[in-house]
Parts: sequence; C-alpha cells; structure tokens
Amino acid sequence: MPNQPYDSSGSIIQRKRGGPPGEGAEKGLITLPGESEREIEDLAGGTYLTTTVDTMVNWARGNSLWPLPFGTACCAIEFMSMVSSHYDIARFGAEVVRFSPRQADLMIVAGTIVDKMSPVLKKIYEQMPEPRYVIAMGACATSGGFYRAYHVVQGIDEIIPVDMWVPGCPPTPDGLMYSILKLKEKIQRGEIRR
Ligand code: SF4
Repeated sequence: MPNQPYDSSGSIIQRKRGGPPGEGAEKGLITLPGESEREIEDLAGGTYLTTTVDTMVNWARGNSLWPLPFGTACCAIEFMSMVSSHYDIARFGAEVVRFSPRQADLMIVAGTIVDKMSPVLKKIYEQMPEPRYVIAMGACATSGGFYRAYHVVQGIDEIIPVDMWVPGCPPTPDGLMYSILKLKEKIQRGEIRR
C-alpha cells in the first residue's frame, strides 16, 4: 500500500503538509561546509557530490559530539537544562551524554575545581580518546570565579587544554549551547586538530 501523506490538520500549531518519504526531495541541496559552491552532478539518475575525506570527517565530528559532564557545582544544573527538552541540544547532535571517558569526546567542566580534584580531572581527560575537546563552563572553571583562594584552581587551563570558554555565574544554558555551536564550527573548519 503506498504511503499516504500524514494529515496534520488537527494539530494545535500550524504545520506543513508532509509527503511520502523519498518524494519531493530537491536535488542540489546537499552541501557540506565549504562545499556550497561545488556542482552536484546528476549521474545515471542519482545525486552525487564530491568532497574531501577531511571535510567529510570534520563535518561528521562536529555533528556528533558526545559530551562528558564534569560537574562539580551549580553550573552542572545549567548543563542539565541544556540537555533537557526546553533547550534540547539534541537538535545539534550533542545529546548523547556519557559518563565514561572512553565513550566521550567533549569534556564540559561545569563547576569549581579544587586542588584535590585536579588530578582526577586530568586523569579523566587523558582517558578520553583523540580527538577530544574541552569546554570550560562558568566563572569557576574559567578563572576560579570568586574563589580567590589557594585551594581552588584559577582556571582549568592550568591543568588541561581548553577549546571554548563560557562566561557567567551562572552561565546560561543558551550560553553553553552557543559555545558548542562555535566549537562545532571550529571543528568543521578543521581548526582543531590533535
Ligand atoms: S560559576 Fe557560579 S554557577 Fe558556576 S559553579 Fe561557579 S559559583 Fe556555581
């Protein structure tokens, strides 16, 4: 039986009328970052595009970040907001939160890091496979925040490399989301290689 378009006329919000899967796709819309000017050839009835392996790999990496939250304080609550339904980082492919460093490539340090915790932070970072990225979230992780004290790390870049900094105390979930989008852009431009 052929697929019938889904009738959404009873929906509480205005929705576009859907079509059967595979129908109505416009050719020429498949592009990768930096590839928009390339011609897409229609060969033997199929759509093809040409690109480089690096572009393809960077595109895939940027769109499939798996975050590991290193949450030690209130910033972690903002992180939880970002992965929940209101902000929904799943829209950008980064919702697969993992608490095992072996299965994550984006460490989000959310909270105060005290001296005693710093070897743990470093060890977990080192257990993550390459390529790995780090976001320092909030005033505490970026600079020690208002803890100007001997026992608090004054910025996690004292211990591990940092790719993105999110300002604020507390930083907003949309601020964190913005940093992930900027990180994604950097990865896709090939600016981060480790
Ligand atoms: S930056 Fe502010 S919100 Fe974040 S952990 Fe420090 S005190 Fe808490």
